[in-house]
Amino acid sequence: MARDTVVFDLIRKELERQRHGIELIASENFTSLQVMQAMGSVMTNKYAEGYPGKRYYAGCEIVDQTEQLAIDRLKQVFNIEYANVQPHSGAQANAAVALAVLKAGDPTLGLDLSMGGHLTHGAAVNYSGKLYQPHFYGVTREEGLIDYEMMAEQAKKHRPKLIFCGASAYSRDWDYARVRQIADEVGALVMADIAHPAGLIAKKLLKDPFDHCHIVTSTTHKTLRGPRGGIIMMRKDFENPFGLTDVKGNIRMMSNLLDMAVFPGTQGGPLEHVIAAKAVAFGEILSDEFTQYAGQVVKNAQAMAAALTNLGYQIISGGTDNHLVLIDLRNKNISGKKAEQALVLADITANKNMVPFDDKSAFVTSGIRLGVPAVTTRGMKENDMQFVVNCIDKILMNADDTSIINAVKKKVNAFMTQFVLYPEMDA
Ligand SMILES: *Cc1c(COP(=O)(O)O)cnc(C)c1O
Repeated sequence: MARDTVVFDLIRKELERQRHGIELIASENFTSLQVMQAMGSVMTNKYAEGYPGKRYYAGCEIVDQTEQLAIDRLKQVFNIEYANVQPHSGAQANAAVALAVLKAGDPTLGLDLSMGGHLTHGAAVNYSGKLYQPHFYGVTREEGLIDYEMMAEQAKKHRPKLIFCGASAYSRDWDYARVRQIADEVGALVMADIAHPAGLIAKKLLKDPFDHCHIVTSTTHKTLRGPRGGIIMMRKDFENPFGLTDVKGNIRMMSNLLDMAVFPGTQGGPLEHVIAAKAVAFGEILSDEFTQYAGQVVKNAQAMAAALTNLGYQIISGGTDNHLVLIDLRNKNISGKKAEQALVLADITANKNMVPFDDKSAFVTSGIRLGVPAVTTRGMKENDMQFVVNCIDKILMNADDTSIINAVKKKVNAFMTQFVLYPEMDA
């Protein structure tokens, strides 16, 4: 085959974009080179439907070992007894959990999308809103904190079978014990979706959801800094409480139902190259280097929140416990959409986001979400956050002034040359 210069030129350009810019999308990160090498490996050639030792294809002896290694390392990372590393993404992990524990039409309860929740927790446009009967809780108007009273009221009223906790745009920790108490009162299961803060939870910088939540799902590519993918976990296996059976009518342990819900329930062959990369990433997470990294993420987020607050920006909930901040831009007279567009012109990527009780649509929004996992991987420390915030402020205050934006972009590009990204790769 002739070298596909068209695609590889684009990949080279993407590397350049990543090197030159300040990446503040809270769900993004930069994997290590070895994670990418595992992903771009011959493991992609292998079909392996089934699980280690129980495959529907021959020749799985080696991929069995990488998949088992990924499972064992993940169990060690979170001190848990059950892990499934096959979900292709966070959304796939959540779909499998729903399939395992819910029947069509069952009520669910999750954080409203416009308050920081995720599509897969019951949004009308998502399978989770179409196949099940979704209900929602929100955050309090004054403080921007999870409204557990509302969660309890909604639970009593709608008697959900599954309560989702976890969010995509929430900067505070969760009271998992309280969620469990609410769930127990109505006989619901609790699923914690830790897609965003998983890396901080792994290093005990945030509360441990596993003691209280029956099932925990995550992505592997956000703060866990692995390849793009999903995982499902439980601290302890248990017999499913709703009398749900497998297709033969047997009552099964939850581990069994979850495994079957991933394959053959919602997926075919697993991505063994991605699973190998997950194993590499989980190995990295077990290192002291990652402990340092996770600690730095929280310090950087807090430094960023302080710098923003000093410039008069309104941070939802007043600060952060994790890796992100959500800013209400209404007092700055700029929409989230306009802010996102102006920032990207200066090679700063962040995303617009609805704020709680937003009066603008999801396309326009009043807010912007900033996260530090990626810039922390680049090597930024607390004192660099002031530079980043100054650039953001300069752009937002001059969002229509191309010459000012261009001047900031030059500064951004020069600044980023000190944080080397993938030096082993040529540009
Ligand atoms: C990112 C995210 C997901 C989905 O992950 P994908 O890999 O994009 O499918 C699920 N839940 C939450 C809370 C997320 O933030």
